[in-house]
Amino acid sequence: MFTPLTGRAVLVTGGTKGIGKGIAGVFAGAGANVVVVGRDPATGEPAAAELAGGEGEVAFVRADVREAADCERMAAETVERFGGIDVLCANAGVFPDVRLEDMTESDIDEIFATNVKGSMLSVKACLPALERSGRGRVILTSSITGPITGYPGWSHYGATKAAQLGFLRTAAIELAPKGITINAVLPGNIVTEGLAELGPEYRQKMEESIPQRRLGTVQDIGHAALFFATDEASYITGQAIVIDGGQVLPESLAALEAQ
Ligand code: NAP
Repeated sequence: MFTPLTGRAVLVTGGTKGIGKGIAGVFAGAGANVVVVGRDPATGEPAAAELAGGEGEVAFVRADVREAADCERMAAETVERFGGIDVLCANAGVFPDVRLEDMTESDIDEIFATNVKGSMLSVKACLPALERSGRGRVILTSSITGPITGYPGWSHYGATKAAQLGFLRTAAIELAPKGITINAVLPGNIVTEGLAELGPEYRQKMEESIPQRRLGTVQDIGHAALFFATDEASYITGQAIVIDGGQVLPESLAALEAQ
């Protein structure tokens, strides 16, 4: 039995859609008070309203994680609203696809600004409040793409997701004396609003490549994040957990066909 997270203050960047919204919903369902962050209020306000109504409160704060001042403000507004920050889920990320031969300098700068700099600025801004919590938790959303696998069009994306894990390992050492743990979730292929745009054929091919023969849900990722946030996970830091239905395991198509 895990110690309940009722009343903990949780900040989820990119919590207005997709995986972040799923993480926010799982925490709110566990009784935590959650701030969801995104750039677009037209998405963020209704998302917060949809997630509210359970045990935990949910509020939207507009911020762009590429900007240090916005990260400071989102942390300050969370502290003001919920009295502190116990958990930061640094989840905001973008994944435009472009082949290396067509990639511009600004393509590279933009994806690193959100996925790497944005994660680091978010953690940095929340540090004082996480330390005051006495049981601060950071959960980064990385990916299997980059740290473990590759996909054409996503060389820059994969580089950012692997970079998050490089950041994680030294941050874990620096944050340990402050009583803060930092870990990462590595989702495989997850059903989000954006998946429909990729078409039914893409979805079917993905399902066929996964030993469990289904894509993940946003709640699958939320539950892993929730575990890292528990008191019982306090001795786990600097680690990365893959949540992919076994997608990275088959060594070949033949291994799947032999199932
Ligand atoms: P999504 O549905 O596109 O949602 C992205 C979220 O991030 C939105 O809330 C978006 O809100 C926010 N966001 C983007 N840029 C931001 C910025 N500069 N500042 C603040 N918020 C920002 O994406 P997703 O598929 O859920 O992906 C979320 C994370 O999971 C990413 O880190 C991604 O790399 C990772 N991931 C996803 C999958 C998958 O299968 N979906 C697999 C592996 C890893 P606004 O646009 O309003 O800012």
